[in-house]
Amino acid sequence: MSDVIKLLPDAVANQIAAGEVIQRPASAVKELLENAIDAGAENIKLIIKDAGKTLIQVTDDGAGMSDTDARLCFERHATSKINQASDLFAIRTMGFRGEALASIAAIAKVELKTRTADQQIGTHIEIEASKLEKQQPCNCPKGTSIAVKNLFFNTPARRNFLKSDNVEKRHILTELQRIAIVHPEIEFQYYQNNQLSHQFHKSNLKQRIAHVFGSNYNQRLIPVEEETQILRLNGFVGKPEYAKKVRGEQFFFVNKRFIRSPYLNHAVELAFHELIPDDAFPSFFLFLETDPGQIDVNVHPTKTEIKFQDERYFYQIVKSAVKKALGSFNITPTLDFDRETAFDLPDQQGMRTVKPPEIKVNPEFNPFGHSKKSAHAGGNLSSRINPGQWEKLFPGKEDIPHPGDLKQHEQVTISPDWQDNTEVKNGTKFVQLHNRYIITPVKSGLMLIDQQRAHERILFEKFQMMQEHKTATSQQLLFPEHIRLNDQDADILKEILKEVGSLGFGVSELGHGTFVVDAIPADMMEDYVLQDVIEGIIEQVKKNRLELKQDLRTNVLRSTAKKLAVRHGKALTYEEMKALCDSLFACSMPQASPTGKTILKIISNEDLSAMFK
Ligand code: ADP
Ligand code: MG
Repeated sequence: MSDVIKLLPDAVANQIAAGEVIQRPASAVKELLENAIDAGAENIKLIIKDAGKTLIQVTDDGAGMSDTDARLCFERHATSKINQASDLFAIRTMGFRGEALASIAAIAKVELKTRTADQQIGTHIEIEASKLEKQQPCNCPKGTSIAVKNLFFNTPARRNFLKSDNVEKRHILTELQRIAIVHPEIEFQYYQNNQLSHQFHKSNLKQRIAHVFGSNYNQRLIPVEEETQILRLNGFVGKPEYAKKVRGEQFFFVNKRFIRSPYLNHAVELAFHELIPDDAFPSFFLFLETDPGQIDVNVHPTKTEIKFQDERYFYQIVKSAVKKALGSFNITPTLDFDRETAFDLPDQQGMRTVKPPEIKVNPEFNPFGHSKKSAHAGGNLSSRINPGQWEKLFPGKEDIPHPGDLKQHEQVTISPDWQDNTEVKNGTKFVQLHNRYIITPVKSGLMLIDQQRAHERILFEKFQMMQEHKTATSQQLLFPEHIRLNDQDADILKEILKEVGSLGFGVSELGHGTFVVDAIPADMMEDYVLQDVIEGIIEQVKKNRLELKQDLRTNVLRSTAKKLAVRHGKALTYEEMKALCDSLFACSMPQASPTGKTILKIISNEDLSAMFK
């Protein structure tokens, strides 16, 4: 057999490398911004068209390149940042692998204009699919401007893999944010389709965080400072009460490089332990500086994963520094999200005298089959089942409890307070436990209902119906409210405006992250804080998007139901409990929440009598 191995032509090798380095427009944005920073720029302009699919341009006022360098920078492994292997352990720049520009030029058409301070005339280069098309002198300001056009034009698989413009834009914004918050000393301007969409003026770190994530961050941050012989840690953590239900604003930078480190994240989360609910995530913006020899950033082509020489040491320092910061701000572990532990008896209601249940059994009876059928038949939720009659859906069984046992129980004297004055017309009764569960007797035993999940289910089906029949009912607000969101949240709200509108919200955009709300769903709780409600819905949409991959409409529906549902911890009146149960059993799926969690459990009469054997 003849020889079959050959060296790949450069253009092909570059395209393969591009597959690792440039996964989407946002990756090109990151590389270009990092190059501008490495070049010492003070002002950086990012221009995007069509979510980066047609144009990504970065213009800086940094060092610029000579005409030879301008040509060389598109070669693979062409870098000014390291000379020899040992330099790898002293890297202070963002780039050093020398593959970004070569990769980008392999899969797009690139136009470069650059000039150094000591040259009069700059260089203009055009290169497409790794092929040099043009090189000529040009007039241009000091610095560099690189325009990347038609990214992935010759790699259709990659192009087809791109997500919607909104998703790609979100990735781009995320990259810009990560870079902007670690370089508050640099001014950034971000244009989308010829419009200025973000501008971050030179400022200090705290102000920059507020510029990037919303001015309300000003009051939300606690400073963190620590210095040891090996590292310097500074930055901010969010106050515990602002912890989010989804892993959101968590930023770790090591030597100004954004990194992902579940291990260090864990250190921060541990410091927050008992200050926030188990399922919430703290926000943090932490900056670690250390001797580059302590870390290896060369582990991953996009350089977001690094290795530490002594990871456990860093872990300890991060944890204790954050703890100290939280402690010095007087945040003691008394913020208790599970405050209510008393057994709450609703006013005027008690328990009724123990009575033998009436036993009428139909062994074929399937409660959920029945309720589903009625759901299809009925248009209006409450007409599906006669409210209050749902108790019949849970019939007792013939053999339990043992009638003899119950006779004995009847003879037990019960204090008068607990006696029969609590009987209500339809014979059901409700007790709230820990402000979390509703307990109610049914024929087959004792039913426990999770109040929050139950309400989620009710709202979900109601919203579903409203969307299907386009019958959203709203209440107009007498005084429309303004809400302000950070950029990412604002983008999401814009995306879901129509969906939230169909649920009864009247929201319109005023620009720059501000929205005005002039109507809310007709039966929203009274003690709402609008900013909270909207942010909560957005959080939930983000979370569902990550976890459930469902379509936007269902996502918004679920998210809104979740956000508007009564919380655990809320005391309910007897009437509210009754209404909740009635509505729940008018639902087509009363047994599970919209995300599939159990809503109710029954402790059977059998189990009950076994308990008292
Ligand atoms: P790396 O950043 O890893 O060195 P790149 O492919 O990103 O590799 O860039 C190659 C080289 O081109 C850089 O080392 C730098 O010398 C030069 N370069 C790229 N962008 C700029 C810029 N905006 N200003 C000045 N020089 C640049
Ligand atoms: Mg680079």
